[in-house]
Amino acid sequence: MPQFNMILITPEQAAGHDVLEHTAGTPLREGGGDETYRCGRCKTTLLVDVAHHDAHGVIVKCGKCGALNTEPHHHHH
Ligand SMILES: [Zn+2]
Repeated sequence: MPQFNMILITPEQAAGHDVLEHTAGTPLREGGGDETYRCGRCKTTLLVDVAHHDAHGVIVKCGKCGALNTEPHHHHH
């Protein structure tokens, strides 16, 4: 199953978007697909076995290191 490191963004880049708060020790989302996404700074798994559309465009604040992450693909459906 594919695993991706997410892209780090700045608070300025996240401004105006919904930011999902991850809690350390628990994936923010799990199930529904086969793609796993890790924090681009500390490699904590944030989204586990999710469908691509569940990761597309999301911004996740890592509960371990506090980094703001977004998904690495920039597909436009
Ligand atoms: Zn992190």
